[in-house]
Parts: sequence; C-alpha cells; structure tokens
Amino acid sequence: MRRIGIVGAGQAGLVLAIGLRQLGYHVTVFAERPAAEVRAVRLVSNQCLFHPALERERELGINFWDADAPPVREVAFAAAGETADPAISWRVALDRPAQSVDQRVKVADWMAEFERLGGDLRIRRVSPADLDECAREFELLVVAAGRGPQFDTLFPRDDERSPYHEPQRAIGVLYVAGTLDAVPGLTFGLSQVGEFFLLPVRSVHGPVHGIGFFGVPGGPMDVWDAVTDVEQHHETARKLLRAHYPWQAGLLDSTSPAAPTDLLHGRITPVVRHPVGTLPSGAKVLAMGDTAVTNDPVGGQGANLAARAARTYQEAIVDHADRPFDEEFLYGTFARYWRHARHATRFTNDLLAPPPDHVLATLDTAQRVPEVAHRFAHLFENPADYEGWLAEPRSSYRFLEEATARRVATP
Ligand SMILES: Cc1cc2nc3c(=O)[nH]c(=O)nc-3n(C[C@H](O)[C@H](O)[C@H](O)COP(=O)(O)OP(=O)(O)OC[C@H]3O[C@@H](n4cnc5c(N)ncnc54)[C@H](O)[C@@H]3O)c2cc1C
Repeated sequence: MRRIGIVGAGQAGLVLAIGLRQLGYHVTVFAERPAAEVRAVRLVSNQCLFHPALERERELGINFWDADAPPVREVAFAAAGETADPAISWRVALDRPAQSVDQRVKVADWMAEFERLGGDLRIRRVSPADLDECAREFELLVVAAGRGPQFDTLFPRDDERSPYHEPQRAIGVLYVAGTLDAVPGLTFGLSQVGEFFLLPVRSVHGPVHGIGFFGVPGGPMDVWDAVTDVEQHHETARKLLRAHYPWQAGLLDSTSPAAPTDLLHGRITPVVRHPVGTLPSGAKVLAMGDTAVTNDPVGGQGANLAARAARTYQEAIVDHADRPFDEEFLYGTFARYWRHARHATRFTNDLLAPPPDHVLATLDTAQRVPEVAHRFAHLFENPADYEGWLAEPRSSYRFLEEATARRVATP
C-alpha cells in the first residue's frame, strides 16, 4: 500500500490520516506534542462543526462524543440598535444539529485512535528545513500544520484569492462554566464594532460555553492585548456585553471562567495560499486545512473546511490508484477542494465587511419570515448557497419578495 506522510495532527491531518489508515494505506503523522500535552495546552478554537463535517466523522466512526456533546439546535441572531433592545432579533432551528467538541479533546482522542489502527505517530515538530528529509520517505507528503507563519514561504499567498492584507478582527474567546440564560444553540450578536458568538461546548473540562468576541481592529472591542488572565477576560467580556449588546448585559453574570487555560486571544489574516510547495530537492508537497486556506473564525468555517479537505484529499488519493503523486495530481486535488472552499471563503470574507443594505434587509425580514431566517442560518452549514443568493442585491431582494409572498399566502 502507498506511503503517505502528514505534518500536523489537527482537524484536517488526523481525519485524513484515520480515513486513509482505515483503507490500509501506510500513514505517518508528525504531531507537535503527545496527546497528554495536547489536552493541557491553552484553548485553540471554538470549533462549531455543522452537519456535513459531523457526518464525515460519523462515516469514519470517530464521532466519539455524540452522546455527551451538547447539540447546537438553534441559531439566535440579534443586532444592536439605538436603544438597549436589539434592532433586529430572530431565532430559528437548525435542520440538523451542529456541535462543538474542544479540539484538545478531539486531537488527543484521534491520536490514540490513529495509533490503535496501526498508524505511525511520530512526536516531532517538523520545520520547513526538515521537509526534504521527510519527503524522501513518502510517496506523498501533506502539510496540515495550521495557519502561518512557519510554512508561509513554502506556500506563498495567492493574491487573486486573498482580498485582505491585515487581520480584520481582534479575537477573544473564553470558556465559561455556570448557568446561562442562553438558547440551546448558537447565539450571535452583531454591532457596528464587531460580533459576539456564544455556544455550548464539550471541553476538556466537561460541558462549558464558549464565548467569542470579534472586534473591528482599533475599535472599542479591540481590547484583548491588555488582558492576561481568565478573570480579567471574564470581566472584560461582561463589560463588552453591557456596552455593545445591552440586551445580553447579564449573560455571563452567573458564570465563571472554566479553567485558567481556557482563553484565547489573537488576530488572523485571512489568506489563500498557493497549495503546492517546492522543496530544495525539487520534491513537491501539498498544503491542507488552514495551511492552505485560512479564514477569519467569525464565519465558523475553518474546522468545517478542514473536515471537507480531509474528505476531498482522501477521495483524490484513492481515485489516483497507483499513479505517481505528481504536480498535476497535487494541483488537481487542491482544485477539487477549492470548488467547495471558495464558497466558505467568500462568505467569510464578506462577513468581515460592514453588512450592505440587502444583507441588513435580509436580517430584518428574517424576523417576520421564518423561511428567510432558516436560509440565512443554514449558510453556515452550506456556504455554497451564498453566491447565487445573498452575495448579490438583486437575487437577495427577489428572494425576500418571494419568501414574504409565500408567508402571506400561508394560512
Ligand atoms: C477563536 C477561533 C474560533 C474558531 N471557531 C471555529 C468554528 O466555530 N468553526 C470552525 O469551523 N472553525 C473555527 N475555527 C477555525 C478552526 O479551529 C481551524 O480552521 C481548524 O482547526 C483548522 O484545522 P487544521 O487541521 O488545518 O489546523 P490546526 O487545527 O491548527 O491543526 C494543525 C496541527 O498541526 C500541528 N503543527 C503545527 N506546526 C507543526 C509542525 N511544524 N510540525 C508538526 N506539527 C505541527 C499543531 O500542533 C496542530 O495540532 C476557529 C478558530 C479560532 C482561532
């Protein structure tokens, strides 16, 4: 069977590794740290996975947390207005629940599963200079080591597909324990200074809620650089809620930080990279997951895309049978993935810009027409619906008219 090497034990690398191993491929994964250390690191993501990504994990039988991960059944949206009440507010059920399982849990458990299946797990941080040595061992070497900057030179930025040059949000995420008056799902708040999301998570410390703030850089929610610990983060989060989402002012009052390591601060530049890297020896390597396409987490797409990449790359490898993994294969595999990833990327990049009138009209109409709320909420699961609809004013207004007419016609 063919020998495949994967640098990076994350959502992308491990799902591909396990899928290939189940088919009998000889797979080696280079992981930065052992499973016990993975569980102990600081928070890495808020990782809400929607149905298609969850289905992939279920197909592979690696959905180990379905019984105890809280289902994300609803989306509750609200936008700030002139008063303490939201200007727009609606709530809708997801057709199929989403789920957030702490990546520290997933990665640690999947590393064990990969080894159980006979996979070759090597604890080693692979530098770009090490890649040539690794590449000699394998017929195909995939780099799934997360977002930059270590492999940025190997996989240069694709300017045509990357509209932003700077981070568009200052991000602060905290896991909290305690009682929340929240919907059984994703709570989404929008204001002119940024967004906040809250959702239930199955973390390394059991059931918690993850609350993430995404502040426009330089604005009043760009506050995390000065925050050093979870207590300060918790207090800052409560202040942001009172100042910018007053209808949620008390949301965190009966909570406390879940653990000292359960916070995350950062800024991410969204970028699409040229996916095929050439090593000094001339050998070629293929980027995957965030290493290839990094989106701002505001759209909740990165882990979903990583799962999609794992499926698409696996299918391409299997379809290729015994032929050499040449440059044509590498570019073709990424192209196959990009057919889906471009939708998630466009949707997320557009979310980072101030919402245009047709999007505001859609969010407003969603309060009165459940079909509109339903379609908007399901963009997170199916961003391919965005381009032919909400990306463009004319199709957006047409849909609003049609959906409103259907609503009026329904007895
Ligand atoms: C605040 C925040 C919130 C998010 N919320 C969501 C969300 O709700 N929904 C969603 O879909 N996505 C979300 N994401 C994005 C999501 O977490 C990532 O897109 C996803 O984890 C990417 O998976 P990956 O496997 O490509 O990379 P990673 O998950 O980053 O995995 C890469 C792995 O490679 C390892 N590694 C790195 N360098 C090396 C090296 N040199 N040698 C060996 N190993 C190495 C790392 O240790 C890591 O284990 C969020 C991200 C953030 C930061």
